Amino acid sequence: MTRPPLTLYLAAPRGFCAGVDRAIKIVEMALGKWGAPVYVRHEIVHNKYVVDDLRAKGAVFVEELDDCPDDRPVIFSAHGVPKAVPAEAARREMIYVDATCPLVSKVHIEAARHHENGLQMIMIGHAGHPETIGTMGQLPPGEVLLVETVQDVATVAVRDPERLAFVTQTTLSVDDTADIVAALQARFPAIVGPHKEDICYATTNRQEAVKAMAPLCDAMLVVGAPNSSNSRRLVEVGAKAGCAYAQLVQRAADIDWRALDGIASVGITAGASAPEVLIDEVIAAFRTRYDVTVEMVETAVENVEFKVPRVLREPA
Ligand code: SF4
Repeated sequence: MTRPPLTLYLAAPRGFCAGVDRAIKIVEMALGKWGAPVYVRHEIVHNKYVVDDLRAKGAVFVEELDDCPDDRPVIFSAHGVPKAVPAEAARREMIYVDATCPLVSKVHIEAARHHENGLQMIMIGHAGHPETIGTMGQLPPGEVLLVETVQDVATVAVRDPERLAFVTQTTLSVDDTADIVAALQARFPAIVGPHKEDICYATTNRQEAVKAMAPLCDAMLVVGAPNSSNSRRLVEVGAKAGCAYAQLVQRAADIDWRALDGIASVGITAGASAPEVLIDEVIAAFRTRYDVTVEMVETAVENVEFKVPRVLREPA
């Protein structure tokens, strides 16, 4: 049987970012240093394949510090944690390693600095996402107000419109966030913002690559998890940038082949927590059904790397 031709566009950059790479290394190095089990509070990064792999090596994933024994090391996920969490670990004299991405920690520091200067904070983010919970949890209750949409900006009740600052989640849509920031600045002209937005380089680069790729393809697949904020934003960005069909898939088994019937081109990208092995799996699935030609759509080259915490670089 002859297979129909298909052009497969591959976005670059895609997949793992420096913060995810570091967080996974932290768990692996902790297992190497202290042996199993090592506890991890929340999924270290939002990807089932990564979590299952680390679980098989001896990591135990829990949602709360209360679920960890005092005498085993615990790691905090890349998304960051409220200040109360490391404080409680220290009180219990636990060994803990913070795998919060340095670009999330930078936002925590910004929020603390504004608070010290007497400003109330507005966070642009998604309610319930661990990064939002972690960033809001850097300051006392009521000091950080959450807005998710332009509509929220119209109703947010602030203490003093002259003494405000904003921060953002790192994995938001660049364009939607620009609209929310513009609405904040229109309602609160004195609001102070970051010099450069808090959306990280990896989120920005992956969205730029999708914008370049989307108009070229009949359909687009984003390899990523349903609870991965940056992956879900890539689906939205692809659809907005003109791709008629954009779908999130965790693995090749999730591909809806019927929806792809009759297409001549597919764009593939991956969220920052999706390993390349899953993208390879998706490409291999296309090769079994189509005569595939692969073309890269590269809009940036990344060479960011973050060091692991010193405690893991020192001998046990
Ligand atoms: Fe850090 Fe950005 Fe990766 Fe999140 S997506 S872990 S903020 S580099």
